Amino acid sequence: MRIVRVSLPVPLPQLFDYTSEDATEGDIGRCIRVPFGRGEKSGVIVAIADDSAIDPARLKAVRHIQREVAPLPRDWLELVAFVARYYHAPPGEVIALALPPGLRRADAVSDRESDPLLDVGDAGRAALAAPRRPSRALALLRDLVALGVVRHSVARALPSGDALADALRRGWIVPVRRANPADAAGELPQLTAEQGAAIDAVLAAGPGFVPWLLQGVTGSGKTEVYLRLAARTLEAGCQVLMLVPEIALTPQLEARVAGRFPSATVISLHSGLAAGARSRGFVQALEGRADIVLGTRLAVFAALPRLGLILVDEEHDASYKQQEGVRYSARDVAVWRARQRDVPILLGSATPSLESWQHVRAGRYRGLRLSARAVASTLPAVRRIDTRRVRLDEGLSPALQAAIGERLARGEQSLVFINRRGYAPVLSCPSCGWVSQCPHCSANLVVHLADRRLRCHHCGCDSAIPRVCPVCGNQDIQPFGRGTQRVEARLVELFPGARVLRVDRDSARTRKQWEAMLATIAAGEADILVGTQMMAKGHDFPQLTLVGVVGADASLHAADFRAPERLFQQLMQVGGRAGRAHLPGEVLIQTEYPEHPLYRCLVRHDFDAFAARALDERRQAGFPPITHQAMLRADAPALDEAMKFLAHARRLAQDSAPEGVQVFDVVPMRMTRLARRERAQLLVEAGERALLQEFVGRWIHALRTQRLTRDLRWQLDVDPLEV
Ligand code: ADP
Ligand code: ZN
Ligand code: ZN
Repeated sequence: MRIVRVSLPVPLPQLFDYTSEDATEGDIGRCIRVPFGRGEKSGVIVAIADDSAIDPARLKAVRHIQREVAPLPRDWLELVAFVARYYHAPPGEVIALALPPGLRRADAVSDRESDPLLDVGDAGRAALAAPRRPSRALALLRDLVALGVVRHSVARALPSGDALADALRRGWIVPVRRANPADAAGELPQLTAEQGAAIDAVLAAGPGFVPWLLQGVTGSGKTEVYLRLAARTLEAGCQVLMLVPEIALTPQLEARVAGRFPSATVISLHSGLAAGARSRGFVQALEGRADIVLGTRLAVFAALPRLGLILVDEEHDASYKQQEGVRYSARDVAVWRARQRDVPILLGSATPSLESWQHVRAGRYRGLRLSARAVASTLPAVRRIDTRRVRLDEGLSPALQAAIGERLARGEQSLVFINRRGYAPVLSCPSCGWVSQCPHCSANLVVHLADRRLRCHHCGCDSAIPRVCPVCGNQDIQPFGRGTQRVEARLVELFPGARVLRVDRDSARTRKQWEAMLATIAAGEADILVGTQMMAKGHDFPQLTLVGVVGADASLHAADFRAPERLFQQLMQVGGRAGRAHLPGEVLIQTEYPEHPLYRCLVRHDFDAFAARALDERRQAGFPPITHQAMLRADAPALDEAMKFLAHARRLAQDSAPEGVQVFDVVPMRMTRLARRERAQLLVEAGERALLQEFVGRWIHALRTQRLTRDLRWQLDVDPLEV
């Protein structure tokens, strides 16, 4: 009889002992199901022992040990332990997050590949070219041509996806064929001098841990650099981990990677996969059968016995940071992992996070540059439109309207970028001053004219648009300000012949709608796009030559110290959508502050000047990345309760904070009410990470032993992105 020590997903940092007749040391790292309370829980075996602090007679027996797949290796358990330690989260919860749900439940894992990549076959192209009656299968073909390669499950989800079986039977659509290795090698582009230099530098540094920051303008061919380095890693018999910020970007990239490495096994890991596919991919990685693992932030937890290289694309992207539960940063965890496994890591971006950029300046990371585009000869011309002295028509300046008109005449696409969805941010009564407020949040209800609702963008609650002011009965209540729907409506009036397409989280609510929109845009079936930040990331639109930016000024003066950094990144990114193919691009920024340094840097595409300035400001104000922060947040039905708990936490902190750790005041969060709960926060900060870590560890330990009122919840956020 052995004692099995198990980490379970419970909000306690402890391990749980069970008995087993047949467990051995070889079971360490295996998934397991055990009785817990009146039910059952699943977890991972972290140790096998001969005795327990608890009387063995009182221990329960394990239910099931998952022995069909390899155990999780020691370095993986260490990784999980590191994340638990650094983010002060219970290890069992980190394991629950890191493992695919099916595997964690110790379910059987099917090895069958059931979600292949699909492409349009020669017969399909011929069918499209031939005159035929419109059919569902043809519609599907057209979508697929526009989308490029997609997973079977994605094709199924397209509007005409029910015709998939039909199209497959006719051979119009075929599973992606593994090209033969010689073909793939023959098509490689000639590297630019900068790409070559970057690759040489990484290779010359050898296979050990070096953190690199690849700073390359949009379209400079960062992906080509990743692929060449991946090729060398595969040749050396090692695995590659590649992280991307967006699920939507994975199928295209996966196809590109699979096409480049025909004999390699490429798998993707992200939360959009069916449970079976995710488990299968994870096990392929764990057992060393997958060569390249591609995925969103949770892929950083893939077990990789032959790991040789980590790539993090768009490393500045906020979606690498999980904003609930275990609030980890996949980018930062990836860097730790690269050090742990002694392999190189390449972080890539056109607009790096100030954190990474600062590491290069301080000599902790090594910098690589791609300053020119690989194909289009020039970066888009960025111009400011001074809106102080012009009459705007629903936010659109005459210059922007004229520029859109020119694109229309030339058959090119324009994008009006406005980072606010809905028709107008608020409905108000000019006679009594009433504004539409969310009953559950400290936020305004947004006017959605498309479906005639008032909607809260924070808690999601909605109601009909009232006909009269609910306070004074005034009939003349007005939408105030503007969002995508309002701009869309005006564009439709201004350009009656044009096909206007709105792309935001309302119009592309599901993955399916979003894919369909991308297909519409790529097929050139829209002339003017009105979009939010959804449009900014990663996708290439060859016909798009104009980006007009509306309403960006608000972020210049936002209370959040990271707002300008995000704005710069967003504008550079969205601007990078213009003129990606052989057509030159133009970006027009409407602003009342044309001389603002942020816009001046943007016009020159000078990220470094912007970053240097932003970093100086952070230094003067004592903000990250110069300092390190942890945020304790609490929420309760009444603000008072949250404040009281944090005040107590603050006293505890002050009693034990060493010199160099600063404990700030308890304050209500900027958006105090959210979904009927009221929230407050307490910031602690230190110049040194280790000092902060050590202190926070003791502090949280003390907090865990506090008795809480029933309705109070608290969470700790290490390296918070929102403060
Ligand atoms: P980034 O990720 O830096 O924005 P991409 O890697 O997407 O840029 O490259 C932009 C375009 O340039 C892609 O179409 C890519 O195929 C092409 N490309 C990249 N490197 C080269 C090269 N050396 N020669 C020709 N085309 C290239
Ligand atoms: Zn009123
Ligand atoms: Zn709300």
